[in-house]
Amino acid sequence: MIESIWINGEFVDSTSDEVIEVINPATEEIVHSVPAGTVEDTCRAIEAANAAFPSWRSVPGVEKAELLHEVATKLRAKAEKLAVTLTLEEGKPLIENRDEMGWSAACFDYYAEIGRHSRGRVIPSIEASQLSLVLKEPYGVVACIVPWNYPILLMSWKVAPALAAGNTVIIKPSSITPLSTLRFAEIFDHLPPGVVNIITGAGDVVGDELVTSPDTHLVAFTGSTVVGQRIAALAAPLVKKVHLELGGKDPFVVCEDADLGVAVPGVAWAALLNTRQVCTSTERVYVQRSIFDEFTTRMVEYVKSLRVGPGIEPTTDVGPMARAPYRAKVEAQVEDAVARGARVLAGGRRPPQLPRGFYYEPTVLVGVKPAMDIMREETFGPVIPIAPYDTFDEAIELANSTTYGLGANLYTHNALYVKRFYEEVKAGTIWINDPLTDNDAGPFGGMKLSGMGRELGEEGIEEFRETKHIHWDFSMEKKVWWYPYEEYNKESGYIEE
Ligand code: NAD
Repeated sequence: MIESIWINGEFVDSTSDEVIEVINPATEEIVHSVPAGTVEDTCRAIEAANAAFPSWRSVPGVEKAELLHEVATKLRAKAEKLAVTLTLEEGKPLIENRDEMGWSAACFDYYAEIGRHSRGRVIPSIEASQLSLVLKEPYGVVACIVPWNYPILLMSWKVAPALAAGNTVIIKPSSITPLSTLRFAEIFDHLPPGVVNIITGAGDVVGDELVTSPDTHLVAFTGSTVVGQRIAALAAPLVKKVHLELGGKDPFVVCEDADLGVAVPGVAWAALLNTRQVCTSTERVYVQRSIFDEFTTRMVEYVKSLRVGPGIEPTTDVGPMARAPYRAKVEAQVEDAVARGARVLAGGRRPPQLPRGFYYEPTVLVGVKPAMDIMREETFGPVIPIAPYDTFDEAIELANSTTYGLGANLYTHNALYVKRFYEEVKAGTIWINDPLTDNDAGPFGGMKLSGMGRELGEEGIEEFRETKHIHWDFSMEKKVWWYPYEEYNKESGYIEE
């Protein structure tokens, strides 16, 4: 069965018969197909979003809030069905996708309230007969381009604040996970037609048109750094604002005072959640040398106890990777590290009991060096490379040693170390003793090559508002226009009478 694209409040056929096949990563079977949207389809969606914008921006905040709360309520009612769909197309364990639906609903509730409460401000005017206002306005049509690893959550982080701010949106899901997003149409169907549009298709067709069209006014993108750079370059001639949430290479520093009963499963969880296909996955672990051997021994034991299997099975801890090329990248990085002296203490191979599906065993690597790709480039697969450090200065230097700056984690109760870590490590989010916990009110985003702009929190809605300053004089008195030059100089004391 081929799903349709969703434009102007209804499912419509694409102008092309070409399709994108959706594959179950646990079995490698084709589970569905969706239209490979065209430039013409994209233009239709852009037209619908522009037509809906004037009336959507003037819907009173209280009413917008009700409509966004309704999105959250409908999502909660359909969460199980959507979570199963997402597991079939992306592979994550069902329990993690149930969480994703819950977090997404909470995001719509959060921005329903933030949107109705935050406004511009009145600032001091120059004279008593004047008023100076700072207004916050929507941009217009926002292109929301979303990756596959948390497609519903990351779509919600864009769409909820964009709508709350008065914009209309076009959502382009990844071609790996188009189904769960298309099914979201029935959750948006109480909104006025055209306020939300969903179009599936290739990044360099639908995505490029969304970025380069003069009729979209902001691009909110989450994905790889290389595609983010391309989008920024494509948007530059139009001076169109781009909001970029990109890749990472997050470090985790474990100090010797850490309770290993907490730190070992904590690091493993931060490194293996969603088969380590999280932008803020722990990709490098630095452990103080005095506890290094004990830490790695316990990590190997822990990782070997995890059950690898299809995400749909309730017993699965670690699911398959999303696609074969991503697994091939992991295999190449591990192979390269081993060739340059690293040692595999657990995993390092495809699980022999699972010949089909894009599985890779959770892997522990030691003997890793800063120059290896596995310690510098995003891996995005279930490998935990662990290196020792001696001093905290060295730990901070290592934490900062990549071109990325998305998140960073620390386990310690040493307050001095905590303060140094959050002041000196260049990353958009710092987690101390509680890895990867997000909070709708806490801004999220990257530094360095991990992106620009922030999602979530009050910063998250500001990304979708433009600022306008109004200077209003109601005295109707003559002000200084073309002031006679000599008079001016005399009055200002430049020329003595
Ligand atoms: P990707 O960059 O390949 O694709 C992301 C989206 O961009 C997809 O919808 C894709 O179709 C689209 N796209 C591709 N080429 C395009 C183009 N030329 N123009 C416009 N759109 C285009 O990323 P992915 O593989 O889907 O996701 C994984 C990456 O996303 C990882 O690097 C991960 O770290 C990153 N990520 C970042 C965050 C964050 O918040 N910083 C969150 C999740 C994932």
